[in-house]
Amino acid sequence: MLRIECPWCGVRNEDEFSYGGDATVERPADDASQDDWYDYVYTRANPAGRHREYWHHINGCRAWLTVERDTMTHEIFSTEPTSASLPQPQRKTGSL
Ligand SMILES: [Zn+2]
Repeated sequence: MLRIECPWCGVRNEDEFSYGGDATVERPADDASQDDWYDYVYTRANPAGRHREYWHHINGCRAWLTVERDTMTHEIFSTEPTSASLPQPQRKTGSL
């Protein structure tokens, strides 16, 4: 069983968390092609080794985490709040 360190709750067993998907997949632009959107929604790699993933502390504080984990050994290298790893929205400049 994995032991995942939540930044708020401390180290907890894997069964308190729900896997949330690949954290390396980037959302395409709103006007991207249908193929790009298909890949974004349905196509996933099955990487072996170090990988970034989303995990939801569903039976804890309910926060989303980004976990860097080795998919072969299950060693966890880091955890951080997902909001810290998301690209921040760009503010438009100029007059309103
Ligand atoms: Zn937590």
